[in-house]
Amino acid sequence: MRDGRKQVRKYPRVNNLLLLSDPTRARALAQVIEKLAPEHPVKIVHVCGTHEATITEHGLRRFLPDNVEVLEGPGCPVCVTPTRDIDAAVKIARKGAILCTFGDMTRVPGTEMTLADARADGADVRVVLSAAEAVNIARHTDREVVFFGVGFETTTPMTAAILLDDPPPNLSVIVSHKLIPPAMTALLDLPDNRISAYLAPGHVSVIIGEYPYVPFPRDYGIPTVIGGFEPLDILYAVALILRQIKEASPKVENGYPRAVKPEGNRRALELIGRVFAPTDVVWRGIGTISQSGLRLRDEFAQFDARVRFGVTGEEGEETVPGCRCPDVLTARAVPTDCPLFRTTCTPLHPIGPCMVGVEAACNIWYRYGGRPKL
Ligand code: SF4
Repeated sequence: MRDGRKQVRKYPRVNNLLLLSDPTRARALAQVIEKLAPEHPVKIVHVCGTHEATITEHGLRRFLPDNVEVLEGPGCPVCVTPTRDIDAAVKIARKGAILCTFGDMTRVPGTEMTLADARADGADVRVVLSAAEAVNIARHTDREVVFFGVGFETTTPMTAAILLDDPPPNLSVIVSHKLIPPAMTALLDLPDNRISAYLAPGHVSVIIGEYPYVPFPRDYGIPTVIGGFEPLDILYAVALILRQIKEASPKVENGYPRAVKPEGNRRALELIGRVFAPTDVVWRGIGTISQSGLRLRDEFAQFDARVRFGVTGEEGEETVPGCRCPDVLTARAVPTDCPLFRTTCTPLHPIGPCMVGVEAACNIWYRYGGRPKL
């Protein structure tokens, strides 16, 4: 630098993503984290399966002091899809519709069966990679085609987009989309949450921006840092969180500015707002969370598959005896706390939904060894 001070690059340049998993830089960030960590226990909760996958795949927990733990909360959309939605999809598929959904959804247990079971029993259940693929199927058949739309704010705009783009009349949708900030609020309202800070999800934040997280530091005193998905993104976000704790200055901080704008993606938010309205919905293993889901607005009611097929929302069994998914999904347990983990419950034979999806905590811990310090 011209004034002679040594230039310290605190964060790697982002035009080479390999730098974002550079072990030398990771060790440097780990030293920063060590210095910033308080002496009391710190429980950081993230709500994103991709965060958990990066943390476990790269062994990031071993870079953290023993008193700093990072747990996954309700970050897997497959895990939190309630049994009643699975049951509705199974019923509609067995009524003769072509049922399109994402791959993991076919293996989530319903009350009586999974969608994969229904397919084995003769139902036409197809795995798609996008809502647009379901539209394409509908345009090439006279049969009814139903898209089972799950996911958080990241996938919801795609479902909205197909309904705004003159969809074929034989297409309808089972809406099971959910909103992340109300779930984060619900966790903070649990009496035994012990949450010290939130590591907010990068991809959801690309859509919703920074502002929906403001109540967490303002009303609960919870530092909230948006984090990206590369190893250094996450360590950097943890360092920002610990700095906020050290300085006793909780706020929303964007640790992923190369992707997240403060206002989010206005176009995507507009699409969501035109098609959907917030409503109370059940999160599997957690219960009903106020205004945490989406329903079709009245002008799109003709695309509601439940109405079209006369399937009402009966209640299904949301918990499995012995399965600790409710505690895992609320960040009050880790997969290895469950006695069924890796014994009777495996990805090939999942007992609970947390072992099904690739973004689910039990599934991720199984794939990377299930060791707590991973
Ligand atoms: S290991 Fe299986 S049974 Fe245990 S909490 Fe996870 S999904 Fe449920």
